[in-house]
Amino acid sequence: MAALEIHNVRKDFGSERVLKDVSISIDSGEFLILVGPSGCGKSTLMNAIAGLEPVTSGSICIDGEDVTWRTPAERDIAMVFQSYALYPSMTVRQNISFGLEMRKVPKPERQAAVERVADLLQITHLLERKPSQLSGGQRQRVAMGRALAREPKVYLFDEPLSNLDAKLRVDMRTEIKKLHQRLGTTIVYVTHDQVEAMTLADCIAVMRDGHILQLGSPDEVYNNPVDMFVAGFMGSPS
Ligand code: ADP
Ligand code: MG
Repeated sequence: MAALEIHNVRKDFGSERVLKDVSISIDSGEFLILVGPSGCGKSTLMNAIAGLEPVTSGSICIDGEDVTWRTPAERDIAMVFQSYALYPSMTVRQNISFGLEMRKVPKPERQAAVERVADLLQITHLLERKPSQLSGGQRQRVAMGRALAREPKVYLFDEPLSNLDAKLRVDMRTEIKKLHQRLGTTIVYVTHDQVEAMTLADCIAVMRDGHILQLGSPDEVYNNPVDMFVAGFMGSPS
């Protein structure tokens, strides 16, 4: 069964049609990368999957359940978006634990989850600090930890590394790849970085102007682009 099924999703903002019948099906454990030029609708699609924006028409199923009209909290997903705001007055531990507390997860389980992700992301030594006492890269790890503390059906990452410098981006990319291999979770990940796309993806969706132009393995999309646009975007050999 597909972990995530997006069926004919359309999204209008006023008279502007931003998503034009987008359909994507992602198997459980698959790492899908969504690429496309700025303004093509990537974040809008992520927000629709997350339930942050209602769709105009179409449906979204997670693990076979239609969640189209459910609130974000009622969908089994966790997100890391570009602006990874942490709660400034809370410690790293509290930041990671907060989402679980909201979901009424009992304290011993919350503590165990915090220890688990802190170990995974190598931030155990930072748990009692406040966000202001962290570097950008450390904050990014905490934001990741907050998402990973939950074990949802689907993770959504919208350009999570775009605020980091080049070295950190490469380190975090490696870490995300390892995490995926270790946890085997389903991930939808937006990037405009082709190298990131090629190294992380099981599957790449190329989007333009509210459409999915091509959906395939990195090898297919790179070596057999459907058109000049995809070829140009992926940097395919001509
Ligand atoms: P991307 O993430 O691919 O850069 P977005 O999904 O953010 O693109 O935006 C796609 C289009 O939708 C853009 O033209 C943008 O201006 C428009 N858009 C996004 N969010 C809103 C909104 N809340 N209200 C009106 N237009 C929006
Ligand atoms: Mg965006």
